[in-house]
Amino acid sequence: MYKKVRGFRDIFGDEIYYWNFIEKIIYDLSRRYGYSEYKIPVLEKAEVFNRGIGSTTDIVEKEMFIFKDKNDDFLALRPEGTAGMVRGFVENKLYAISGVKKYFYYGPMFRRERPQKGRYRQFYQFGVEAFGSASPVLDSEVIKLLTDFFKECKIEDKLKLEINSIGCPECRPLYKDKLTEYFETSKDELCEDCRRRLNTNPMRILDCKIESCKAIAEKAPVMINYLCRECAQHFESVKTNLSNMNVSFEVNPHMVRGLDYYVRTAFEMVTDEFEANSTVGAGGRYDGLVKQLGGPDQPGIGFAVGIDRLVGLMESKDVIPQYHLDIFFVLPDGLLDEGVKIINNIREKGYSVDMDFDLGSVKSQMKKANRFKAKFALIFGQNELDKKSVTIKDMDKGNQELVPFSRLMEKLSIKLDK
Ligand SMILES: [Zn+2]
Ligand SMILES: [Zn+2]
Repeated sequence: MYKKVRGFRDIFGDEIYYWNFIEKIIYDLSRRYGYSEYKIPVLEKAEVFNRGIGSTTDIVEKEMFIFKDKNDDFLALRPEGTAGMVRGFVENKLYAISGVKKYFYYGPMFRRERPQKGRYRQFYQFGVEAFGSASPVLDSEVIKLLTDFFKECKIEDKLKLEINSIGCPECRPLYKDKLTEYFETSKDELCEDCRRRLNTNPMRILDCKIESCKAIAEKAPVMINYLCRECAQHFESVKTNLSNMNVSFEVNPHMVRGLDYYVRTAFEMVTDEFEANSTVGAGGRYDGLVKQLGGPDQPGIGFAVGIDRLVGLMESKDVIPQYHLDIFFVLPDGLLDEGVKIINNIREKGYSVDMDFDLGSVKSQMKKANRFKAKFALIFGQNELDKKSVTIKDMDKGNQELVPFSRLMEKLSIKLDK
């Protein structure tokens, strides 16, 4: 017998209805905000991620599924969506279209992380990317889309929106100097990685998960106190727009992005449901990324949401209605021809119908109706055929009634179209 690869999993049964529920929201909400789907390849040249995510990040250094292809190319399974999206944006010259270009993606990503509960090496992300505008109105629109998404998933009350501004190439160098100065004073208490970061990228120390580093980072100077005038105005405008759209948020001055092409607005949806302050969705402005991947200097902003964790959160809160089959059709062997016709008619009207292909006793068929969580059983026996009727049994309440063929659809519509 074969077993699945470590860190991978099958998704099916009751859990899949959560996925289908979320997928419907992804497609519907993206359309409402003017985003069209972009299907990114699962496999890219590894350089795309080295350039797009940064060769010194944990993702690229430690977590990529990477291999040498037969023609000696290094290929990698995508660990996230943005790098491939931007590669496609540049390669397909989409930057040449005037105005804002809005895309969303949804699908599996791959990271060779240490397997642990709720973390998988194949995990799913929904993300959006908008290119071609530096307007703060776009920032707030992208954030609103993210909060709407969680609202429709019915778990908004478990989440908190945090925002920050992380400055720009104008104002960040001064801040970095202040930060380096600060960390130099307690250099000996930093972890080995962070001591290295002190020389390469001190802002990444603010992101370190090690407690002793966290304690030092807590009191470090924050970027929002060093913003240039343009960045400060941009941030004020984002906050005003969010308030105008009734989005509640908190400014978290400690939120950072480790890479230089991230500018200004950064945002995260955090929850305390798994562990304190864990992120279920994050995004930000990346005005330098298109250029980094060989395109013109065109601004961009986006976010990504981890769907596996979201499903876990929704399941624990039991937020969506259980899946039910509309109708289970119960009939004896002799009436199969007639029965199949009726089943076909009902399906063509848009209702879900199933039957027992073994055609066991009425009792055993009713048992299956229960197992399929049918809302109604339609019982079609000789008695019903003689009266050109069908018996409709409410599986929940237990009551039943005889309905003539001519009124069947009307009756189903009353019972099922709520
Ligand atoms: Zn600035
Ligand atoms: Zn550290």
